[in-house]
Amino acid sequence: MPEFDYDLFVIGGGSGGVRAARVAAAQGARVAIAEESRMGGTCVIRGCVPKKLMVFAAGYREGFSEARAYGWDLQGGEFHWPVFRGRLHEELDRLEAVYRKMLGASGVEIFDARATVADAHTVTVGAVAKTAKHILVATGGRPTRPDMANADLAIVSDDIFHLEQLPKRLLIVGGGYIACEFACIMAGLGVAVTQFYRGAQILRGFDEEARGLIAEMMREQNIDLHLGTNIVEMAPESADNTPLPIGSDIGGHASGRASSEVRSSSEVRSSSEVRASGGSDGPIWVKSTNGHESVFDTVLFATGRTPNTDGMGLEAAGVTLGRRGEVVVDKYSQTGVPSIYAIGDVTNRVNLTPVAIREGMAFVETVFKGNPTPVDHELIPSAVFTTPEYGSIGMTEEAAREQEEIEVYCTSFRPMQTAFAGKPWRVMMKLIVSRATRKVLGCHIVAPGAGEMIQLAGIAVKMGATKEDFDRTVAVHPTMSEEMVTMRDPIRTA
Ligand code: NDP
Repeated sequence: MPEFDYDLFVIGGGSGGVRAARVAAAQGARVAIAEESRMGGTCVIRGCVPKKLMVFAAGYREGFSEARAYGWDLQGGEFHWPVFRGRLHEELDRLEAVYRKMLGASGVEIFDARATVADAHTVTVGAVAKTAKHILVATGGRPTRPDMANADLAIVSDDIFHLEQLPKRLLIVGGGYIACEFACIMAGLGVAVTQFYRGAQILRGFDEEARGLIAEMMREQNIDLHLGTNIVEMAPESADNTPLPIGSDIGGHASGRASSEVRSSSEVRSSSEVRASGGSDGPIWVKSTNGHESVFDTVLFATGRTPNTDGMGLEAAGVTLGRRGEVVVDKYSQTGVPSIYAIGDVTNRVNLTPVAIREGMAFVETVFKGNPTPVDHELIPSAVFTTPEYGSIGMTEEAAREQEEIEVYCTSFRPMQTAFAGKPWRVMMKLIVSRATRKVLGCHIVAPGAGEMIQLAGIAVKMGATKEDFDRTVAVHPTMSEEMVTMRDPIRTA
């Protein structure tokens, strides 16, 4: 009779949790996984995947207009959101089914229920206690709204995929990945987009030159970007155009919050049944920090995400949480309670799907294969799916010049494909090189397809390639990325 019900109980069916469950089961472990919402988690159900499909949908606007410049006789067409949304949710249903099938095929027992931690070896699923030798917390995160009156009038990123219709006038608050990506997507789909960012430049933490070019390109797409600007008040706009007082009864609007929070296990699992979106049913009056007042059909808060640890029983079980509610773990993803591990966004390390997957794999290596494997969080390539995209790996110029003497190689130009069509789009390729070791410390690409390019450039940078290694590589002509191997002279040294 085994001491525990399972060798591993995974809480959370997102990319990291599912991967860890499957790989551990493949090692012969007895594994269970609990998911209170839909299998697939943020990335598959309400993040990367539906977002990327929307990026594709939005891209056709420019594509059609370029095609005309190339001689195609195309008549102007309309984008039909309900048609796209229906197909989108069919695809998400398909993907969720694939996840479930893979788990089942691996012998993982699935609980469609919320699970919490009762003690070091016990999980409560619904009202039932299950014991496990190891518990893996992979509960991810959720979007958060600023703490202000009437914040529930706004939607968050989770709600976008369920909108009944696209707004005509959209305000996006925030300047991070989600804010900038959706500003470009929505502009591409024909929505009039205004964006408020409280800081001096969008995409804080990224290379300044890249941020500047993306902001400029966003303005070229008619995104009304206001820097150094935040929202200070919001209220439903009344019929006589007088905003209702802050805190006045906003009736059904409160539904907005519910959709962004962790959903109960009783909630519908088939996304083909489209939920009403969160947020206001009518126009929203907004006052900004510069005193300006305006009215929008929809306000999107893209103001960051919070780890899902509320009510999980973690602290009572002895697990330490950080200031933002994240689970504190060591390099093996182990918490202070030896039998409890945590991976992915709930640990708020590097909040990217492929990183959560790596953390899940390293966990299995460490715990089930007897091969202690720390997670490598160095030199992670990533992409922001703005228009144009931004791919980067390694250090920004600003961080690198703080560290050591560098050479900066950078070029910005109008790429052939869109220049031919008379478009103003510019791209940028940039390498930051150590003067001492000649290693490429950072690579930044702002261009169509930059996400694809940085994946490959990332291999070279991760291998420790020098500028001379890049130079020795023959250009592929004519491409945009050939500039990466043909930049001869630094534009500056520091
Ligand atoms: P970010 O933390 O990247 O951005 C949050 C933004 O909201 C920042 O601009 C921040 O400003 C601003 N903000 C925070 N609080 C307030 C407030 N009270 N009022 C006004 N503005 C506020 O979060 P996101 O939600 O955009 O993305 C979360 C994470 O998800 C990312 O960090 C990334 O790891 C991941 N992600 C990755 C994607 C990809 O790989 N393509 C796509 C989407 C998400 P400030 O800069 O001043 O703090």
